[in-house]
Amino acid sequence: MTEKPISFFDLLKTAPLHDPISDQTGQTNEIKTTTCYMCACRCGIRVHLRDGEVRYIDGNPQHPLNKGVICAKGSSGIMKQHSPARITKPLRRITGRDRGESAFEVIEWAQALDILTDRLSKIRATDPKKFALFTGRDQMQALTGLFARQFGTPNYAAHGGFCSVNMAAGMIYTIGGSFWEFGGPDLDQAKLFVMLGTAEDHHSNPMKVALSKFKRSGGRFISINPIRTGYSAIADEWIPIRPGTDGALILSLVRELIATNQIDHEFLKRYSNSPDLVVRDPGPQHGLFLLDSTRPAVSEDLPQNKFAWCLTTNGLVPRETADPATFALDGEFTITEGPHQGVRVATSYELLKQQVQHATPEWAESITGIPAQRIRLLAKELGFAAFQQAFELPIPWTDSWGKAHTHVIGRPVAFHAMRGLAAHSNGFQTIRGLAILMSLLGTIDRPGGFRHKAPYPRQTPPRIRSTSSESQIKPNTPLGAAPLGWPARPEDLAVNDQGEPIRIDKAFSWEHPLSAHGLMHNVITNAVHGDPYPIDTLMIFMANMAWNSTMNTMAIRDALNAKDTQGEFKIPFIVVCDAFDSEMVAYADLVLPDTTYLERHDCMSLLDRPISEFDGPCDSVRVPVVAPTDHCRPFQEVIVELASRLKLPAFTTPEGARKFKGYPDFITNFETAPGSGIGFLAGWRGKDGEKSLKGEPNPEQWKRYAENNCVFHFEMTPSLQYMRNWNQEYIRFAKDNGFRQKEDPIQIAVYCEHLQHFRLAGQGQRPGRQPPDWLRERISTYFDPLPFWYPPLEDEITDTESFPLHALTQRPMAMYHSWDSQNAWLRQIHSHNYLFMNPRTAKASGIADGAWLWVESQWGRVRCMGRYSEAVEPGTVWTWNAIGKSDGAWRLDPGADESRKGFLLNHLISEEIPMKGGSKKISNSDPITGQAGWYDVRVRLRPAGPDEPAISYPQATTPASPGQVPNKKFLAYFTP
Ligand code: SF4
Repeated sequence: MTEKPISFFDLLKTAPLHDPISDQTGQTNEIKTTTCYMCACRCGIRVHLRDGEVRYIDGNPQHPLNKGVICAKGSSGIMKQHSPARITKPLRRITGRDRGESAFEVIEWAQALDILTDRLSKIRATDPKKFALFTGRDQMQALTGLFARQFGTPNYAAHGGFCSVNMAAGMIYTIGGSFWEFGGPDLDQAKLFVMLGTAEDHHSNPMKVALSKFKRSGGRFISINPIRTGYSAIADEWIPIRPGTDGALILSLVRELIATNQIDHEFLKRYSNSPDLVVRDPGPQHGLFLLDSTRPAVSEDLPQNKFAWCLTTNGLVPRETADPATFALDGEFTITEGPHQGVRVATSYELLKQQVQHATPEWAESITGIPAQRIRLLAKELGFAAFQQAFELPIPWTDSWGKAHTHVIGRPVAFHAMRGLAAHSNGFQTIRGLAILMSLLGTIDRPGGFRHKAPYPRQTPPRIRSTSSESQIKPNTPLGAAPLGWPARPEDLAVNDQGEPIRIDKAFSWEHPLSAHGLMHNVITNAVHGDPYPIDTLMIFMANMAWNSTMNTMAIRDALNAKDTQGEFKIPFIVVCDAFDSEMVAYADLVLPDTTYLERHDCMSLLDRPISEFDGPCDSVRVPVVAPTDHCRPFQEVIVELASRLKLPAFTTPEGARKFKGYPDFITNFETAPGSGIGFLAGWRGKDGEKSLKGEPNPEQWKRYAENNCVFHFEMTPSLQYMRNWNQEYIRFAKDNGFRQKEDPIQIAVYCEHLQHFRLAGQGQRPGRQPPDWLRERISTYFDPLPFWYPPLEDEITDTESFPLHALTQRPMAMYHSWDSQNAWLRQIHSHNYLFMNPRTAKASGIADGAWLWVESQWGRVRCMGRYSEAVEPGTVWTWNAIGKSDGAWRLDPGADESRKGFLLNHLISEEIPMKGGSKKISNSDPITGQAGWYDVRVRLRPAGPDEPAISYPQATTPASPGQVPNKKFLAYFTP
């Protein structure tokens, strides 16, 4: 027998260089666990130190979220720690110098805090809404939101309005939960997985782990996306789609499933409002549910005195107490007897059926570019997985109506979607459509489908109402309601008696009624225009509003520096808190140097955005693994310090003394209500740490987290893990632990009556608050209680023959927004970006692979380099977001590739667009939620001229800020 020759691969079979589960001592002499913040995913990490200095970072195998997996960003955290772009001292703009020049003097923290306390206390004592606090990738919105509310200003939001609020709102108003932190695809039990509009971001490592396992176990993965990158690269099938048309595809699938009877009748009748009867007669009741006045409603928001149509008696029956098996799912009826005699009604499901009647696959093909046959086949595949591959798990549970079930049904078809659907001005209705599609298949909180994560599900919408009256804003008084919430009807809007916005971003106004996350992308423009009013102080945390976090970047930079006729800044005072020398820092009047994530305490709380798993609530913390650099101070500490100095009630004892020593003390001892036992962290509560989820504050709580991988995971019994919208035992558990306010079931809103209340107001059919006349048609059109597809609003005002292409951005896998161009390792992966174009598209415009070209929209133009790519549908061009930088920003050398070859698409996008057929301008956003329409812009291409300089356009300059600690350790990491 001849010996097998040694192959190249045999030579590689040497001992592994690094064993992730071995004892990691070696050259390091200490390992500390904490939570990564190189992106928003929040993986558990181990930081390996030698003599107190970070040597390397790896994934924590004991962590439930990432189970030891780490990505390139996460392991590059060491270079963030030692970045030359760190801001390490408080700075104050030199009087008389312009913003944007980085003309600062170094000051002490004591001075910085005195300046802020003095200014903010005067604002609070006179007109608190003149203080606006907007935060970027903030993972402590429960604290920053509490600060704003205690201060008394409604002008607070985080970045959700320009990120993915459509995803949150579209899903939560429909099924009471959403993708990512609050729910996701159960890939462990799914057979078919359909991903729409998702790049490699949000829930990154857990999604990669789950996809790998899913594919290895034979699951089929279909990606529907204009671009095939990230997760889509490993999809079994890529279905290219035109941007902004997913809603048309979804409606067509809904139509096909209904037409071919591939729907879960039983599920819809019991667990959704599909059989609920809607009044069809014109007038103020049109489109509202028929209510039984002889039975009390549980609340105005959630009437439980509705009717269904009984097929046995051919008449009305109480929706909540009659047997759903007898309900008509479809049909229109005229009531023949009783107090409602003569009223015409239809089931919600019937109205859905009528709504999608026109949405044939051929209709969808003409909009999406996906062949009608493929749409039909996709509907078949969805139905096959849901119904032919269904299974049962022997898990007993009891529903809200007291019926005991011996098992849960698995419908193994799962979906995931993100910003590709959300960042369009038709995103809310598209995502409502997706949630309804999932509901028709019966895949809500069932094995193999979409599953919730605590603290969700919540009511549709949650019972949190935001500020709705100017009377809730008073000097030296906390705000009378939360700054952010979930409006259910026009009375919940943040408008004054004249119907005008009372927030600076116009969130919750008639312009964008359901803007649950605010509209950060309009704050600067509105403030500079004094529309609806001027403000005094704008505080920005971790958002690069002078560059990649804003539309219309160059105009916003000018706006930040705009002065009135007296030479005073139109925004009188800007405070920026950041860890790095970004473009926005240069525009501050006061700069507060934040720490890195390795230098501070943080918590990912169940009151906020936790890391819960399908099987139970989960929260986590960061603990400092190294001391803060130079004068850096965590923003959380600054917030607690300011709140204490301003004597905000929640931070002050009844005697007027300071209540909390600092942020860790606040997190340990704050309770949502005195004695409630519910606080920011759910683990190791109770005096001795023996209680979970609820219990007295435990002074040792941080220590216990640090000893336990910085994570707390409460695994619920299987009977609590499914059907949680209607699971009696789970709902009680959720209420007991503060996740829910009431024990009512959460019915899926196939028909969203809340939207109809707004529509009736728009039509002048409803008493109470009325929209201004110029918005009536807009409200009447878009507040359809059933999903519908309409072209993105920008299409209406664009000559699409002149600007035929869609232009998109994606977050690069190796970087987190603009944060990582100052990271020496990650910068080696991307130091500039290209515009990716299908070769057919590029050639049609005469553009060679690698050549310089102009991309033009009706709002602006950029010059960049292009590359051919077959992984993009021909009607779309795209690039990585935030690689391009202003020259000198982030301490990059002048003339660095990031500024000379890198570019932003933001220059092509306007933050405001003219209303169709009118002279007024309005935010370039979803008309329902205010979600920024990043992906609506239309562009055209042309080659750059041979004499043009080979640098990107436009160019901007950002000088480095003074007085920082130079990076002194950099080279040590390349030598043993
Ligand atoms: S996915 Fe995000 S949180 Fe997880 S290791 Fe990578 S950068 Fe860190």
